[in-house]
Amino acid sequence: MELIRLENICKTYYLGEVEVPVLHGISLSIRRGEMVALMGASGSGKSTLMNILGCLDHATSGEYWLDGQEMSRLGPNERALVRTEKLGFVFQSFNLLARTSALGNVVMPLDYSPRRHSRREARRLAHGLLNRVGLNTRVNHVPSQMSGGQQQRVAISRALVNSPMLVLADEPTGNLDSHTSMDILRMFQQLNAEGITVVLVTHDPQVAAYASRTIRIVDGMVESDEVNPSVETTSRCPLVKVTEDDHAEPQDHAIEPADDGPARRWRGLVSSLLPATWRTALGALRRNKMRAGLSTLGVVIAVSAVIAMTEIGQGSKATLQKGIASMGANTIMIFAGSTSTSGVNMGTGSAVTLTPQDAQEIARQCPAVKCVAPLVRARSQIVYGNRNCVPENIYGTTPSYLDVRDWKKMTAGEMFSDRDVRNSNKVCVIGNTVKQNLFPRTSPVGREIRINNVSFRVIGLLSRKGANMVGMDQDNIVLAPWTTVKYRVSGTTLTNTNQSGSAESSSSSTSDSVNTLSGLYPGATSMYLSRTATQEADTPQPVRFTNVDQIVAKAVSERKVKRAMSQITGLLRQRHRVRAGDEDDFSIRDMAEMMKVMSSTTQLMSSLLLVVAMISLVVGGVGIMNIMLVSVTERTREIGLRMAVGARSHHILRQFLVESIVLCLVGGAIGILLGRGASVLVRQIVRWPTQASLTTIVAAVAISVGVGVVFGFYPAWKASRLDPIEALRYE
Ligand code: ADP
Ligand code: MG
Repeated sequence: MELIRLENICKTYYLGEVEVPVLHGISLSIRRGEMVALMGASGSGKSTLMNILGCLDHATSGEYWLDGQEMSRLGPNERALVRTEKLGFVFQSFNLLARTSALGNVVMPLDYSPRRHSRREARRLAHGLLNRVGLNTRVNHVPSQMSGGQQQRVAISRALVNSPMLVLADEPTGNLDSHTSMDILRMFQQLNAEGITVVLVTHDPQVAAYASRTIRIVDGMVESDEVNPSVETTSRCPLVKVTEDDHAEPQDHAIEPADDGPARRWRGLVSSLLPATWRTALGALRRNKMRAGLSTLGVVIAVSAVIAMTEIGQGSKATLQKGIASMGANTIMIFAGSTSTSGVNMGTGSAVTLTPQDAQEIARQCPAVKCVAPLVRARSQIVYGNRNCVPENIYGTTPSYLDVRDWKKMTAGEMFSDRDVRNSNKVCVIGNTVKQNLFPRTSPVGREIRINNVSFRVIGLLSRKGANMVGMDQDNIVLAPWTTVKYRVSGTTLTNTNQSGSAESSSSSTSDSVNTLSGLYPGATSMYLSRTATQEADTPQPVRFTNVDQIVAKAVSERKVKRAMSQITGLLRQRHRVRAGDEDDFSIRDMAEMMKVMSSTTQLMSSLLLVVAMISLVVGGVGIMNIMLVSVTERTREIGLRMAVGARSHHILRQFLVESIVLCLVGGAIGILLGRGASVLVRQIVRWPTQASLTTIVAAVAISVGVGVVFGFYPAWKASRLDPIEALRYE
């Protein structure tokens, strides 16, 4: 039965404008099970014909039928599939993968076979074949450790591993001495005797004598085609000795060599778990450790810099955030609304709308609010012995004020209690500046001071807080229960004391003595008459509740500030019975400005980091791409060989892509370790705050893979587009 039929095959090479016709209409037919020698002088076109038979190349014109299938019109991938399924190649120059064991070389075509073999099966098969060609003691030798004859026997085993129906051998004995040549040729006879069709290309009549039929080619045309009379004797002569244990099961020691070191066994285990592409890629990288290491350096540096910088950046951001939060980034301030008297707006706080009950209800009903404190302000001179001062703030409040302001610690003594507030006890705590003014050398705790002629016992000293964002001394403060300040110090709240009022009462109150100077200036005198006692009596303003000047609240977190504000607004509108559409009778403010500054600073910092990271990753990626391109060029023959034994373009693409991804992943992993190490060192030595972030690490891994794919794609694509014969011829 016919296996090969060529009809009028012509092949012309084009060298630019020049046409080089090589085959001039070859027609022949080869039956299944024949052993044919294609013989001709050098340059007669034998190899060209062989490449066409082997589906590595296609003819310029003519038809080629292989196993009943027309080959001329198949695409490169379809031809690759035919090569894996039906053909086995043996080359003059062996074309083994360097630095790969004999076993690895024989197993290689199975990676591209559509018939799936388990790793174990594949190794068993390869062992069997190597055993058969007499190389059972050389399975782990690499080509450079073997003689030419042994290498060719490995190549024959490789050609047989996919159980081909046709073996093509192009000058298989061209590089061998005559004795070894005989061995190899007998091996082909043996294969032929088993039913495999063999086509042998040679220029040597002695070699051709081993075949049963000789086709002579002269200048690209078939000159003669004759049956070899002497072939009967050769095929009857005893076959090579290796065939004796031909079908013998490979012995165990051959499958798992006894001299297995633990490293090799471990590697074997790992590689048996990986898909073939990964194995190939890892193998290629392992063979070039130094270069692989150097090419990952860019990625290592980039990733470690990114990790270290982000950890340090995040650490300082967190510290900054904490610092700003303690200054009150989460603080919300609620002021009473404004009223107009005779058309003149009296300013925020002039309306009397906020009550201590409001504060309590906010604390109770608004989930986004962490704590709340009412504030009653007073401004007065305070006196101790022969010293006096006017603190910036005298606040009447509740103990939760300290929580609102993140003012946790007391330097000495303690904060007044809720009970003190209920009983309006005359106790207070003072800030550090007040202490310096009144008690430069002694402890203030337990002393009595006078505020507006009311005697207060100092029960605590607040810790130092320093100046706030606008430069106001936060330690120049006295805190007392709001009830005490309201009823005993202010008498009325400041808001109700307009300037004309304070001018009138200045004579009677010590607290107002600080304002006496203002009475001198015309601007301080009221332009509008204040209401007389009669007017007050005519239009009474019954005070139904106690008011406070201000309520301060703290949101549970920086992100919840807006929500807390809307909850408070809703609650207060409802409590104050503000009708829909009417304006609020209070105003509410947060530290939006402060938070904006903070977020813009951190934003800038992280964008800068990102830019640096991107630049270094691109640099690293270009390094990888460069190395991969070099590697593709260097391994062109290997790529050609893999394609010749059946690798399709996607196999090659995947192999090189995986190589660059592995490079980047390894680089990324080392980079993460180095970056973490650097940040730990910075923390230990320079004592900068750092913060590990899982997201960054995950992102670094993802980005490494991304860089591998992006920068590995072009070289891999270039490799996959190579033409198998040109790649094989590449020097
Ligand atoms: P051989 O019979 O020695 O194997 P080849 O088939 O290799 O001969 O080459 C036949 C002729 O074709 C030679 O003259 C060679 O110069 C020419 N040839 C082979 N390959 C190419 C090519 N890729 N481009 C141009 N000419 C080629
Ligand atoms: Mg040739």
